Amino acid sequence: MTERLYYNDSYLTEFRARVIESSPDLRRVYLDRTAFYPTSGGQPFDIGTLGGVRVSEVVDEDTRVAHILDEPLSEAEISGVIDWQRRFDHMQQHTGQHLLSAVLIGLFDATTVSFHLGAESSNIEVSRVLEPEQIRQAEQRANQIVYENRPVDVSFRDSSEDLGLRKPTDREGVIRIVSIQDLDRSACGGTHVRATGEIGSLLIRKQERIRGNLRIEFLCGMRAVKRARADFEALSAIGRSFSSTLDETPALVAAQLEKFQESDRARRRLSTELAQARGRELYTQTTPGPDGVRRIQQRVETLSDDVRAEAQSFTAGEKSIFVALAANPPSVLLAASTDSGINAKEALIKAGARGGGTPAMAQGRLNSTEDFSLPE
Ligand SMILES: [Zn+2]
Repeated sequence: MTERLYYNDSYLTEFRARVIESSPDLRRVYLDRTAFYPTSGGQPFDIGTLGGVRVSEVVDEDTRVAHILDEPLSEAEISGVIDWQRRFDHMQQHTGQHLLSAVLIGLFDATTVSFHLGAESSNIEVSRVLEPEQIRQAEQRANQIVYENRPVDVSFRDSSEDLGLRKPTDREGVIRIVSIQDLDRSACGGTHVRATGEIGSLLIRKQERIRGNLRIEFLCGMRAVKRARADFEALSAIGRSFSSTLDETPALVAAQLEKFQESDRARRRLSTELAQARGRELYTQTTPGPDGVRRIQQRVETLSDDVRAEAQSFTAGEKSIFVALAANPPSVLLAASTDSGINAKEALIKAGARGGGTPAMAQGRLNSTEDFSLPE
């Protein structure tokens, strides 16, 4: 059984221990005592060194803690060092979770059903959906309690006592209880800061509805500061390109987008009108064949709406056939006036194209546009 030093002192970063057991390759090590936190309860494992060898993972094996090492460790008596920056960050996020969960149940009766501490951000899932205004209120309340710097205490009590826990536990015997003064009592084996002030700012970010629950993303401490800085820089860049202040940017972007959509609609309309005019002009410029039919064949990059508009306009004139061969992908558009003597759809299939349409206009894919010939 490994003695877990972090249960009583989450600020312990260096310790001495004896190696009790090792795997044959000496890279999985069990100690009599450890300050390394193994992944459990939503909080990831610590990293650091044992006897100078890097610890890359720590696994909770019920009564024992396994330390996974980068290299073999053969010494029997070693000193361990915890990566404090990573650990303290975890302590901030984890205590922040207790705080946020307690605030959400206090204000809105929203019970936390799960917790995940991620590399970038953390999230809790609560049992009900909350309005944006409620999220703002919860964030404010949580930060108020941070500024009050309330003590966070750890105690060990027997499960048979009336413990007044936020969430009932089914554990038997001695239970570790983490309390935030006058706010929260939770059964928890994780590492926490000693007062709410050390959590630092608590920033709530996106929410996502999941199976009737609400997943709430949050960041504490330096993560919140870094995120706010990144947000500011991203918003500033947008603001600069619109020559506006940050606060004015959202309205300005929305207005610009509307303007853009409006002018895009106008551009499409003009483009179609231009294509139609081209089709009419082309018709008057094309000399009819001996059978009186005007035939035109064009090469285009793609079969766009404009090409179709031009074809339609060309074949609005009597006795006319319009063919457009597109390079990308190899394809053909065929339009024919009703008195042209051909049915566009049938002629298209006869010419070996895979596609469809109407007797007036059809289009389809070709293996190659090289050997396509205009139907007579
Ligand atoms: Zn906890």
